[in-house]
Amino acid sequence: MRVHEQFAEDLALYALGSLDGAERRALEEHLDECVSCRRELELLRGDLSLLALTTAGPKPPARARQRLLSAVAHEPRRPVAAHASERRQRSWWSSVGWPALRWTAAVALVVVGIGLLRQNSTLQQDLASLRALFIDQGSRLEQANQIVATLLDPDATKIELVAVGNKPQPRGKAIYQRRNRNLIFFASNLPPLPAEKIYELWLFPANGGAPIAAGLFKPDARGSATVVNPPLPEGVEAKNFAVTLEPESGSHESPRGTPVIVGVGE
Ligand SMILES: [Zn+2]
Repeated sequence: MRVHEQFAEDLALYALGSLDGAERRALEEHLDECVSCRRELELLRGDLSLLALTTAGPKPPARARQRLLSAVAHEPRRPVAAHASERRQRSWWSSVGWPALRWTAAVALVVVGIGLLRQNSTLQQDLASLRALFIDQGSRLEQANQIVATLLDPDATKIELVAVGNKPQPRGKAIYQRRNRNLIFFASNLPPLPAEKIYELWLFPANGGAPIAAGLFKPDARGSATVVNPPLPEGVEAKNFAVTLEPESGSHESPRGTPVIVGVGE
């Protein structure tokens, strides 16, 4: 049976979780009856957890590192022959040969490993939050695209509902956002276009200026039409919208044709 000093290196490896097989069992048996080695193990474990906690921090864990290094320095050197037979089952670093080197390599591995784990977990967190943001933005965009696609799909069924007994009347709805110069216009129940004519949408500025041409359009067979984001001057507050029937080339300066539908305003 080995004496207590001979377990010094095993204790360190045990604390690092790198001791297995018969050596692990022998040490565990020894630990059961040796208070001194149990205390040493607790100290080593404390040092290791302190190292783990402070690896990524600004201050090097000087005290813990010191004790680990002195544990390495003071561990008993066993005869090489004894080593060769004892350590045959050891993991890859047994090729390093010298216990102190193995020890240092083990500590270095743990320290580097912990640092990488921490770095990795920070990166993982960043990645996860970026991914969540991306998915959120993506699903909003997807939703918006679906709404627009449905609204603008010429194949989508568009049915105007009116009061029972009434005949469907031509009507339109303009949704205008001055800030971004966005304009979406829907019309329904428009009469079929006469030859060489076209419908034209007009924006009436709130400042009383001349109407601004806001797009030429032809309705489909059911009299439905859409105008999306026609080119418009910047920052115009809209008071009203109207649709006129114009010569096929459209009118640019002001409406020449007859009004078909006009906004009811406020
Ligand atoms: Zn002991």
